[in-house]
Amino acid sequence: MNDTLSPPGQLHQRRVRMMLWVAAVLMMGIGLGWSAFFFARGAWIIVAVEVTMALLGVVVAWLTQRRRTRLAFFVMLATVYSSICAFGLVFDIPDAQVPRSTHHFILVLALAAMLVLRDEPAWMRHSVVGLLFISYVALSSTTWGLQTQYVIPHEVRISGTWVNTALAMLGLYALVHIMVTEVAESSALEVEMRKGIARDEFFLLYQAQLTHEGEVLGAEALLRWRHPKMGLVSPGDFIDMAEQTGLILPLGAWVLRNACTQLVTWSQMPELAHLSLSVNVSARQFRQSDFVGQVQAVLERTGANPKRLKLELTESMLVEDMDDIVHKMESLRALGVGCSLDDFGTGYSSLTYLKKLPLDQLKIDQSFVRDVLSDPNDAAIAHTIITLGKSLGFAVVAEGVETQAQREFLVAHGCHIFQGYLFSKPIPLPEFVAFARSASGRKSATVPAAT
Ligand code: C2E
Ligand code: MG
Ligand code: MG
Repeated sequence: MNDTLSPPGQLHQRRVRMMLWVAAVLMMGIGLGWSAFFFARGAWIIVAVEVTMALLGVVVAWLTQRRRTRLAFFVMLATVYSSICAFGLVFDIPDAQVPRSTHHFILVLALAAMLVLRDEPAWMRHSVVGLLFISYVALSSTTWGLQTQYVIPHEVRISGTWVNTALAMLGLYALVHIMVTEVAESSALEVEMRKGIARDEFFLLYQAQLTHEGEVLGAEALLRWRHPKMGLVSPGDFIDMAEQTGLILPLGAWVLRNACTQLVTWSQMPELAHLSLSVNVSARQFRQSDFVGQVQAVLERTGANPKRLKLELTESMLVEDMDDIVHKMESLRALGVGCSLDDFGTGYSSLTYLKKLPLDQLKIDQSFVRDVLSDPNDAAIAHTIITLGKSLGFAVVAEGVETQAQREFLVAHGCHIFQGYLFSKPIPLPEFVAFARSASGRKSATVPAAT
């Protein structure tokens, strides 16, 4: 690794954007180039098609610039794929002298799809790549074509075959190179994480959870990694890798120990003794057969009050063995530890599941809170979650509250516990303690100042 290290997740995003820029420029260049060619021959329909491709290239560039890479990719994929098929079937029909060559670009598209859609559900990735491969096989193995009045001169097709095949190979080479690099980076990240754990580079930030009256109820502990070269790395860039490699187990255990030790320290300070602490638990951690035993052991060893500890689980882990999950949650409840369902609304939990789970709290995902004032659907979802949570007897927390207007909307709809930048960002322990102390000093104030 060199001096300008960035986490692989960020590098991946940068590469995807770069790839989309290249594709956008090629769409504009190729679209305009062929429009000029057919303009000279008076083939107006083809000119219109090529100009459309160039315009869609502009759309891809605009979306990429706005960081809407997923949409940009699908626009690019649909445009380039249909252009390749149309071109291959109308102008690039193989004959005895010249083979078909345009379809080689389908392989480039397939590799690009594997790279860009790597975090999408497997069915989507496999269907897109499968469709591309089937089209490639069909165009490679047949002489299918539509006879039209439009033809490309024979000499142009001969040199076109060389150019298309060489460019497609160049595209394949570049994409395979990116993929190999990403695999190497991801194993390097794993090595760095192992070293990071050994070198104590991980630490916790605390984000306040408050009532609508400004009373601080507690905090969520959020993990951070200070790498000597990458700087501050946020969980989005390492939690997935920690899950895949199993490193989440030592990390998660460390977070739990730390949180419980913190609870004990607070319990000895009268003005902070009421604070609770929420800890995120990953699917792999929760799946361990002795997870409840581990929590119990940490509680006993530290002497923390179980009633002050809350474990945040996500909906995605509910797809596994439901009976086991319910059993573990019941055992945790018997210990006195509460469970909260994080990012609620983004997963698949059915109402039947929700009714079965011994939960204490639902957290409305921040994606709904963000647009609660501008998107009627998000407003309806937030309202429904609040009503649902209350009717099932759970406390409902809104996370990602950034504006006073969002807070007012949520209060008006019956949500009274908040977490978000409006009140406090995730901050180091001493700052959080000062924040909680000052809030308890003016408990009657409506909203504490944002930090
Ligand atoms: P989460 O548990 O849903 O945590 C809330 C995330 O939202 C945090 O991001 C927090 O910084 C961010 N956030 C809070 N208020 C606002 C707001 O008003 N606006 C915006 N835009 N964001 C806000 P963070 O710290 O980057 O954590 C991301 C995710 O990483 C967490 O989502 C959690 O799933 C995971 N994570 C963090 N710490 C741990 C950990 O110790 N163990 C495990 N397994 N996962 C963790
Ligand atoms: Mg959480
Ligand atoms: Mg959340």
